[in-house]
Amino acid sequence: MDLINCPCGSGFTFQHCCQPYHLSLKTAPTAEALMRSRYSAFVMADAGYLYETTHSSKRKDHSKSAYLNSAKNTKWLKLEIVFSAFDVVEFKAHYLNKKFQTEVLHEKSNFRLEDGRWYYVDGVFYE
Ligand SMILES: [Zn+2]
Repeated sequence: MDLINCPCGSGFTFQHCCQPYHLSLKTAPTAEALMRSRYSAFVMADAGYLYETTHSSKRKDHSKSAYLNSAKNTKWLKLEIVFSAFDVVEFKAHYLNKKFQTEVLHEKSNFRLEDGRWYYVDGVFYE
Protein backbone atom coordinates (compact mmCIF):
# COMPACT_ATOMS: atom_id res chain seq x y z
CA MET A 1 0.00 0.00 0.00
CA ASP A 2 1.20 3.50 -0.79
CA LEU A 3 2.32 5.66 2.07
CA ILE A 4 -0.03 8.59 2.41
CA ASN A 5 0.06 11.44 4.86
CA CYS A 6 -2.56 10.95 7.53
CA PRO A 7 -5.65 13.06 6.76
CA CYS A 8 -5.70 14.23 10.39
CA GLY A 9 -2.64 16.39 9.69
CA SER A 10 -0.37 14.87 12.32
CA GLY A 11 2.54 14.76 9.89
CA PHE A 12 2.75 10.96 10.23
CA THR A 13 1.76 8.50 7.55
CA PHE A 14 -1.76 7.09 7.77
CA GLN A 15 -0.26 3.65 8.47
CA HIS A 16 1.53 5.03 11.54
CA CYS A 17 -1.25 7.29 12.73
CA CYS A 18 -5.00 6.70 12.41
CA GLN A 19 -5.13 3.50 10.36
CA PRO A 20 -4.35 1.11 13.27
CA TYR A 21 -7.39 2.55 15.08
CA HIS A 22 -9.60 2.18 12.01
CA LEU A 23 -8.51 -1.45 11.68
CA SER A 24 -9.08 -2.09 15.41
CA LEU A 25 -5.41 -3.05 15.82
CA LYS A 26 -5.09 -0.43 18.55
CA THR A 27 -7.44 1.76 20.53
CA ALA A 28 -7.00 5.53 20.58
CA PRO A 29 -5.12 6.36 23.80
CA THR A 30 -6.52 9.87 24.23
CA ALA A 31 -9.63 11.85 23.37
CA GLU A 32 -7.57 13.86 20.88
CA ALA A 33 -6.28 10.69 19.19
CA LEU A 34 -9.86 9.45 18.89
CA MET A 35 -11.02 12.80 17.51
CA ARG A 36 -8.21 12.79 14.93
CA SER A 37 -9.01 9.23 13.91
CA ARG A 38 -12.69 10.12 13.54
CA TYR A 39 -11.77 13.06 11.31
CA SER A 40 -9.67 10.70 9.17
CA ALA A 41 -12.62 8.31 9.09
CA PHE A 42 -14.82 11.13 7.77
CA VAL A 43 -12.23 11.84 5.06
CA MET A 44 -12.18 8.16 4.11
CA ALA A 45 -15.92 7.62 4.56
CA ASP A 46 -15.36 4.87 7.13
CA ALA A 47 -18.89 4.96 8.55
CA GLY A 48 -18.43 1.76 10.55
CA TYR A 49 -15.60 3.31 12.55
CA LEU A 50 -17.57 6.51 13.10
CA TYR A 51 -20.52 4.53 14.37
CA GLU A 52 -18.48 2.27 16.63
CA THR A 53 -16.63 5.18 18.22
CA THR A 54 -19.88 7.01 18.97
CA HIS A 55 -20.96 6.47 22.57
CA SER A 56 -23.69 3.83 22.87
CA SER A 57 -26.10 6.36 24.41
CA LYS A 58 -25.83 8.52 21.26
CA ARG A 59 -25.87 5.92 18.50
CA LYS A 60 -29.60 6.32 17.95
CA ASP A 61 -28.85 9.88 16.72
CA HIS A 62 -26.06 8.74 14.39
CA SER A 63 -26.86 5.86 12.08
CA LYS A 64 -24.15 4.33 9.93
CA SER A 65 -25.92 5.49 6.79
CA ALA A 66 -26.15 9.07 8.11
CA TYR A 67 -22.43 8.99 8.78
CA LEU A 68 -21.79 7.61 5.32
CA ASN A 69 -23.91 10.28 3.65
CA SER A 70 -22.31 13.05 5.66
CA ALA A 71 -18.81 11.78 4.86
CA LYS A 72 -19.50 11.31 1.16
CA ASN A 73 -21.14 14.70 0.73
CA THR A 74 -18.34 16.69 2.28
CA LYS A 75 -14.89 17.33 0.90
CA TRP A 76 -12.79 17.69 4.04
CA LEU A 77 -9.67 19.77 3.61
CA LYS A 78 -7.88 20.17 6.90
CA LEU A 79 -8.16 19.60 10.63
CA GLU A 80 -6.94 22.13 13.16
CA ILE A 81 -6.93 21.27 16.86
CA VAL A 82 -7.68 24.45 18.79
CA PHE A 83 -7.61 23.06 22.31
CA SER A 84 -7.49 19.64 23.80
CA ALA A 85 -7.90 18.39 27.35
CA PHE A 86 -8.65 15.05 28.99
CA ASP A 87 -12.15 14.55 27.62
CA VAL A 88 -12.76 17.67 25.51
CA VAL A 89 -11.35 18.61 22.12
CA GLU A 90 -12.05 21.89 20.37
CA PHE A 91 -11.27 21.84 16.68
CA LYS A 92 -11.81 23.50 13.34
CA ALA A 93 -12.45 21.26 10.36
CA HIS A 94 -12.15 22.98 6.99
CA TYR A 95 -14.24 21.72 4.10
CA LEU A 96 -15.63 22.68 0.71
CA ASN A 97 -19.36 23.30 0.46
CA LYS A 98 -21.47 22.45 -2.56
CA LYS A 99 -20.50 25.73 -4.22
CA PHE A 100 -16.82 24.84 -3.71
CA GLN A 101 -16.33 27.54 -1.14
CA THR A 102 -14.23 26.87 1.93
CA GLU A 103 -16.17 26.66 5.17
CA VAL A 104 -15.13 25.87 8.70
CA LEU A 105 -16.87 23.60 11.18
CA HIS A 106 -15.84 24.83 14.64
CA GLU A 107 -16.85 22.39 17.33
CA LYS A 108 -16.07 21.53 20.91
CA SER A 109 -16.58 17.79 21.28
CA ASN A 110 -17.06 15.80 24.46
CA PHE A 111 -15.60 12.33 24.82
CA ARG A 112 -16.00 9.60 27.40
CA LEU A 113 -13.56 6.90 28.48
CA GLU A 114 -15.42 3.65 29.12
CA ASP A 115 -13.81 0.25 29.71
CA GLY A 116 -10.52 1.62 28.41
CA ARG A 117 -11.95 2.98 25.16
CA TRP A 118 -12.69 6.52 24.13
CA TYR A 119 -16.04 7.41 22.61
CA TYR A 120 -17.47 10.54 21.05
CA VAL A 121 -20.48 11.76 23.06
CA ASP A 122 -21.62 15.08 21.63
CA GLY A 123 -20.46 18.51 20.60
CA VAL A 124 -21.20 22.20 20.75
CA PHE A 125 -20.92 24.26 17.57
CA TYR A 126 -19.58 27.77 17.30
CA GLU A 127 -20.73 30.24 14.70
ZN1 LIG B 1 -3.97 10.55 11.91
